[in-house]
Amino acid sequence: MSNAQSWIDRGLTHVAKTYGRYPLVAARGKGCWLTDIDGKKYLDFFAGVAVNNLGHCHPEVVAALQDQAGKLLHCSNFFHIPQQIELAGMLCEHSFGDRVFFCNSGAEANEAALKLARKYSLDNHGHDRFEIITAKNSFHGRTIATISATDQEKISTGFGPLVPGFKYVPFGDLEAVKTTIGPQTCAIMLEPIQGEGGINIPPAGYLQAVRELCDQNGLLLIFDEVQVGLGRTGKLFAYQHDGVEPDVMTLAKALAAGPPIGAMVAREKYAAALGAGTHGSTFGGNPLLAAAGVAAMNVYLNGDILENSVAMGNYLRAQLEQLQTKYSFIAQVRGQGLMVGMELTIEGGGIVKTALDRGLLINCTAGKVLRFVPPLIVTDEEIDHMIEILDRIFKEL
Ligand SMILES: *Cc1c(COP(=O)(O)O)cnc(C)c1O
Repeated sequence: MSNAQSWIDRGLTHVAKTYGRYPLVAARGKGCWLTDIDGKKYLDFFAGVAVNNLGHCHPEVVAALQDQAGKLLHCSNFFHIPQQIELAGMLCEHSFGDRVFFCNSGAEANEAALKLARKYSLDNHGHDRFEIITAKNSFHGRTIATISATDQEKISTGFGPLVPGFKYVPFGDLEAVKTTIGPQTCAIMLEPIQGEGGINIPPAGYLQAVRELCDQNGLLLIFDEVQVGLGRTGKLFAYQHDGVEPDVMTLAKALAAGPPIGAMVAREKYAAALGAGTHGSTFGGNPLLAAAGVAAMNVYLNGDILENSVAMGNYLRAQLEQLQTKYSFIAQVRGQGLMVGMELTIEGGGIVKTALDRGLLINCTAGKVLRFVPPLIVTDEEIDHMIEILDRIFKEL
């Protein structure tokens, strides 16, 4: 039995069955390449679902972790944590935000945002304003509140009763937002570009118009930047493309470029609603993870990562559009920066499996959308290599 198969069998015995896993047993990663336990190399255009934005094991993140690991791994939020303070300062200096709450995942960051919206609304408008408008096909995480915050049945079926107080609108439909805002509405929460929903980009002007509706009606605007944030779309944060600032933004995935950390960034006016004792997280912003976050942020801010995301994003989309001219089952190529989707007229799951066999990691979301979210350090040679593999797979279909 191969080394890989024995791990797979052991995993089937004791690990929760919550994921349909591909037969790859991960061992090492470097840059845009993942190596399995048997030494086979894969070009990684999945990047841990848009987590490894700096590639696998970025040397500065690894060095920060190694250094911090020898000094202090964990310390309670009952005390002051310099690495956390530094990371909060960096996030605020480079965004609309004034204050940061740290947690450990995207779902938790969104939980914090939902609690903030309700608490602010209670403090300022009384008991009858608690409703939050979210978009259909959105994805905000897997906790009870965050599965309640999307209307996707495949995510929420079996876990009811869900958390009340959410209203859903089709993503990109401004009229629907207008007609859904009511006396009980306190906030609107959106992904600037929907990730899991299929790399859905809203019509031009939509986010600005939602911002205006929020201002007119005294609503908080929450952007879930868990997937689109940290250079993925070519700017540090996706909201910066549209010149529209949210009141609250959630981050996680690529914030420390690998280690688990989440953050909710908010304007002071709203952040003030969460005073001492109102919310918390044992590990949130602990020294080890915050040190990795600081190291990752330094790379996002000081290198040519954002420029590369723009240039390689343009190159990748151009190459995928070339493929589109050759294959009639490619319906559309869309995206921003290195957040790229290719919508097919056929199911994409089989293509993902074949790609894995051929040494390429891609993903399919929303059934028919191939998703390309490589590390932001990807090169044009790596994109060419990916396109060659994909072209050969398409030819055989
Ligand atoms: C991945 C994701 C989440 C959930 O993040 P977890 O860390 O898995 O809890 C939330 N929102 C968006 C947009 C995401 O892509």
